[in-house]
Amino acid sequence: MPAKQSLNERIEAFKKQNLSLDMTRGKPGPEQLDISNGMLTIVGENNVHTPSGLDVRNYGGLDGFPEAKRLFADFLDVSPDEVIIGGNASLNLMYDTVAQVMSHGTSGEGKPWLGRKIKFLCPVPGYDRHFAICEHFGIGMIPVPLTDGGPDMAEVERLVRVDPAVRGMWCVPKYSNPSGVVYSEETVERLASMKTAAEDFRILWDNAYTVHHLGGGPARLKNILEACKKSGNPDRVLIFGSTSKVSFPGAGIAVMAGSTNNLEWVRGRLFFQTIGPDKINMLRHVLYFKNMQGILDHMDKHARIIAPKFQAVQEILERELGGKDVATWTEPYGGYFVSLDTKPGCAAAVVALAGELGVKFTKAGATWPYGKDPHDSNIRIAPTLPSLQQIRTAVEVLAVCIQRVSIGDSA
Ligand code: PMP
Repeated sequence: MPAKQSLNERIEAFKKQNLSLDMTRGKPGPEQLDISNGMLTIVGENNVHTPSGLDVRNYGGLDGFPEAKRLFADFLDVSPDEVIIGGNASLNLMYDTVAQVMSHGTSGEGKPWLGRKIKFLCPVPGYDRHFAICEHFGIGMIPVPLTDGGPDMAEVERLVRVDPAVRGMWCVPKYSNPSGVVYSEETVERLASMKTAAEDFRILWDNAYTVHHLGGGPARLKNILEACKKSGNPDRVLIFGSTSKVSFPGAGIAVMAGSTNNLEWVRGRLFFQTIGPDKINMLRHVLYFKNMQGILDHMDKHARIIAPKFQAVQEILERELGGKDVATWTEPYGGYFVSLDTKPGCAAAVVALAGELGVKFTKAGATWPYGKDPHDSNIRIAPTLPSLQQIRTAVEVLAVCIQRVSIGDSA
């Protein structure tokens, strides 16, 4: 039977199933949420004090109590005086950081960015919410290709050297969203030491997936703050992270880290912004995890739940598309996504066709600045939320759509 006819038949069969599957966002599945349930009762009527005796029910503490700082310093691989504990979302910390630079300038130059020509380097494919922050503030975005070891550093070094308007860069250095790339030691060193035309170039280092491995333990990532200090650029990096996909998304703990100078600058804003973050939730996390080993043990449980889902994605993609030269895809060791590239010009049509069959994928183009993938090839697969069976079906639909769209109407 000709390939086109057999694909059309499979598409008709999918239509009859009235599917309704959602593979759009990287959310933990219900069994993952269940493993943190102990946190919901660990703080209670008779347990409202930190180990050193602070009552968490009242105001006080702009940037977190000491036990929380100790735990999250280990989490971000910095020292406790290089950490600020925030609210429930690291995206909020990132947005506020950019907003602060727009209105008050960096900790270096101190001149507002608002009204000036500012550009950020954006490794692609990347995280749509980072790009949305830039778009919201009118910051220009320059896409830079990601390689297996991180952003194409020759291109990054060239761009920051020649253009003083290039003043910042987004990085998701470990298990990058969506490619799963882990930045190499060399990449981290070059980012820390590169010569920039802008005096106060800033790297927004979103280490959202620092402990989120898929069974082999967290990958090693060179400590960028140390590397920046060694290169004489201690203020270059602002580090972010959260427990959104460790404990509860939307009810986790967000943290940021950086040089003491940068943290003073952040506290200068926080003072006007809040009396302090939620210490009750902070205490839940401190009592529940106890220490970094507690977090690592907990992440092993997550890995046991989601690794089979990622394996299913690989298995079905390989079964359906292997050797057909219609797509390439990543095989991550951690994080929340698989990044797939179709032949140029196919991704939007594939996502649309899958949508018609009742399977939603993240909008094609979302992984590029302004939502525009110039090759129209990248599709993000988020396999954590649906059940294993749903993932198998959704990825099979995707694979059939890729094959059908790749053939086109002429064949
Ligand atoms: N950064 C990245 C790279 C992410 O993938 C996500 C979640 N999808 C976030 C940040 C959001 O984290 P939070 O819940 O802490 O705002």
